[in-house]
Amino acid sequence: MDLALTVRNTFVQHFHGEPVVVRSPGRINLIGEHTDYNDGLVLPAAIDKAVYVAVHKNNSNLVRLVSQEYNDQVEVGLTELVPSSSKPWTNYILGVVNQFQKRNFTVTGFNLVIGGDVPLGAGLSSSAAVECATAYALNEIFSFGLSRLELVKLAQLAEHEFAGVKCGIMDQFASVFGKPNHVIKLDCRSLEYVYVPFDLSGYKIVLFDSRVKHSLALTAYNKRREECESGVQLIQRQYPDVKSLRDVTLSQVEECIKPVDLTIFKRCAYVVEEISRVEQACEALNSNDLDTFGKLMFQTHEGLSQAYEVSCAELDFLINEAKKFPAVIGARMMGGGFGGCTINLIAGAEMKRATDLVTLSYQNQFTVTPGVYQVTPSAGTAVIV
Ligand code: ADP
Ligand code: MG
Repeated sequence: MDLALTVRNTFVQHFHGEPVVVRSPGRINLIGEHTDYNDGLVLPAAIDKAVYVAVHKNNSNLVRLVSQEYNDQVEVGLTELVPSSSKPWTNYILGVVNQFQKRNFTVTGFNLVIGGDVPLGAGLSSSAAVECATAYALNEIFSFGLSRLELVKLAQLAEHEFAGVKCGIMDQFASVFGKPNHVIKLDCRSLEYVYVPFDLSGYKIVLFDSRVKHSLALTAYNKRREECESGVQLIQRQYPDVKSLRDVTLSQVEECIKPVDLTIFKRCAYVVEEISRVEQACEALNSNDLDTFGKLMFQTHEGLSQAYEVSCAELDFLINEAKKFPAVIGARMMGGGFGGCTINLIAGAEMKRATDLVTLSYQNQFTVTPGVYQVTPSAGTAVIV
């Protein structure tokens, strides 16, 4: 059944009354990985998998939450909001309430049912979808009047403070600003953005979920951020105006970093190249050249695996297997690395055969069945009932 309707019906069964139902999608990122914290460019899209919240005021001082996913319900007072370790799913909702309160908006009691079909913890940002759905719905029922961009920033802070994840702004931005058949070229420094038409013309976007998350992920992420900062400092000795790797050319990286530290050189060269790949990818889309776009995705994977060193055996395997099919015109790991999904552009007619065979070889190699999700760029957060 239609997911929005299921969530609405669950609401009516539990709470009675007519709720507002808000849909907020998960997201993919086509290209531009590890560029966000370097003031760079990213190219995300909202997808046709989403979180739905049904919400209505309840004339009390209590928040009552029901999760379809966890078959669970929780009641909390509005004056006692703190992150919960026993029911982590509530943090993505209550963290948003907390952010409204911090901005001196009066949130009174409400009932909320949550459900959806964004795979959890797979790197499609179900967490951002929950936050954005909640923020949008509360803004609506309490008429707070915040803009979409303000809601994005509020949702991001909810993730920082209640989920304890210091994420960039891309996930929430893509969820809220998504547009069907378009990707969003987002400048992570200025937050300026343009929609770039993404005409898939017979190709499909397929994600393979490795179903692994190696414990190295967080330490490596922090280490890469430090390495990029060290690189910037080395360049600043000769070019004091440089603020981040966004401001830097490849020849500056070679001139200032290569003679000093080869590891930092490799990391920074990857980032500078990746930022320019986002520009090239947008040019390719604007001239309807998906082949070039796909090649850039392969190059990104190569860079993430060899130079930035944030891939892992499972992700490299998924890419190498996919590459064996001429129908796969582009593929790369997506997200921070050391697990999560790969994103693949596959000719529609060959999609089933390619995904079946990649699935089989992954099973044989790792005795794990990968998740397979086909997704389409879709609309951002909206009220739908
Ligand atoms: P990702 O954002 O990559 O999907 P995270 O670990 O950041 O992974 O967020 C996943 C968490 O978000 C889940 O463990 C759960 O707490 C919460 N969440 C996501 N979707 C839902 C949902 N439909 N209902 C309740 N909680 C959800
Ligand atoms: Mg998340």
